[in-house]
Amino acid sequence: MQRKFLKDMISIIAGIPGENIVDILDEKKYVNEFLIAKKLDITVNQVRNVLYKLSDQGIVSYIKKKDKRKGWYTFFWKLENLRTLELLESFFLKKIQDYQHQIKSRENKLFYVCNRCSIELTEETALAYNFICQECGSVFDIKDNSKLIKDLRRGLERTESDLAELKEELAKEKLKADKVVAKKIKVAEKDKIKEREVKKKERQKRLAVEKSMRESKSKDKSKKRKHKFSRFKFKPHTAHVSSRKLNKSKKKKKR
Ligand SMILES: [Zn+2]
Repeated sequence: MQRKFLKDMISIIAGIPGENIVDILDEKKYVNEFLIAKKLDITVNQVRNVLYKLSDQGIVSYIKKKDKRKGWYTFFWKLENLRTLELLESFFLKKIQDYQHQIKSRENKLFYVCNRCSIELTEETALAYNFICQECGSVFDIKDNSKLIKDLRRGLERTESDLAELKEELAKEKLKADKVVAKKIKVAEKDKIKEREVKKKERQKRLAVEKSMRESKSKDKSKKRKHKFSRFKFKPHTAHVSSRKLNKSKKKKKR
């Protein structure tokens, strides 16, 4: 059903040749324009002409890749389903409005015809001509609108049921698009969490390094302090001992 709608819209925008493109193009991956041209049996320029028209409306999108050897660009095209269905929805809505407007006008206003010349006029124009045909001199007849109104009503009903079906397809397509967005958000969130964890680990590492540096510094300080302390405590003592020893030895020498 969706394919039919896509084809309808493309036919409206690009004319009949665009219709076959739906069967060749994909909604997920880009297709090489040379392949499209080959399948449609037309030139690449003709393909581009049709697809440019469609891309103006957002029905297709493209990426281009430069051929490194030849230096020219090759285009790759993709169908934009959601956008196309949305366009068709607004087209149907407009069409429904037109039908309703015409039906109302045919039901409430009088129209006149010259059956000989097959001309139709509004009441105002017929009045301005005094209800006499300027071409053949016949008197205008009041137009019987009943068949036309019936046709318009049928057209309106058909378009309304088309719109209802289209809305179902559109809802499916929107759901798909939402899922894609949700997936992207999820991936982005996962990336963020990963990034946060990496940063956390880095911070912890840095803190650990800083801590060990602090600790080794304080060890150094306490060593120095001990060293100073030992100088004050033991040196005088050793000096004292040594002086006593010295005295003893002096005494020994005296004896
Ligand atoms: Zn006439």
